[in-house]
Amino acid sequence: MRIWLDGELRDQDSARVSVFDHGLTVGDGIFETVKAAWGTPFALTRHLDRLTRSARGLGLPDPDHDEVREACAAVLEANPMPLGRLRITYTGGHGPLGSDRGEHGPTLVVAVGATTRRPDTTAVITVPWTRNERGALTGLKTTSYAENVVALARAHEHGASEALFGNTVGQLCEGTGSNVFVVLDGEIHTPPVASGCLPGITRALAVEWTGAKETDLPLDVLRRADEVFLTSTLRDVQAVHRIDDRELPGTPGPVTAKAMRIFDERSGHDLDP
Ligand code: PLP
Repeated sequence: MRIWLDGELRDQDSARVSVFDHGLTVGDGIFETVKAAWGTPFALTRHLDRLTRSARGLGLPDPDHDEVREACAAVLEANPMPLGRLRITYTGGHGPLGSDRGEHGPTLVVAVGATTRRPDTTAVITVPWTRNERGALTGLKTTSYAENVVALARAHEHGASEALFGNTVGQLCEGTGSNVFVVLDGEIHTPPVASGCLPGITRALAVEWTGAKETDLPLDVLRRADEVFLTSTLRDVQAVHRIDDRELPGTPGPVTAKAMRIFDERSGHDLDP
């Protein structure tokens, strides 16, 4: 595997960051996961824009989009694969053993791993922990993912592939690595960004392409929704066939199936929507 680290491609074994990198010591970093089919990234412009928004939220210097594009192209060319997930990581760089940033600039790493197309349906659980809709990091794609790691492990214990969070006021928010949509009386709804969810790129495309409404939803909407689906870079649109103990027979339902079709068609035609 060839990896981009601070301006050049290196072999995986020689690509090393400092043990004092703040991405490692204090989780001071941001990232993007970008899907790439046959060497072409999907929606890269939107991912770069979110990377910049996340950098600004953390007070990191703006990432150089030209460099990140060059890095993505170089990594994809050096590691050919049919379906890949680019991982762009941008940290506070190496600094003192504390929370203050050092003099060094940020660290940029771009790597790629092979992935496969997601199954059409999946099971999810809800977790009792809450997303903070008013935190300093809310809405930013930071590397501080330990809460998601814990929730995802619980999902796996229950035979599910995703765990859904509510926020501090009992509203539905998002999954560990996905946004959530529900179908009520034929209409598609998803929690607004103010719920504390990440402004997912797949979510934004699904809202634009299906006309889904952004609606405050109580967490228990999951017990009565006619259909539920997830969106994310690696899932695209994925139907949910079980939420905790509730089975949803006939998944994907008609509205979700249509959303999946629309997403596949539109994203196949426009690689940088
Ligand atoms: N919410 C969280 C917490 C995520 O980590 C992700 C993606 O990793 C998403 C939502 C979905 O975002 P996107 O569609 O941009 O992949």
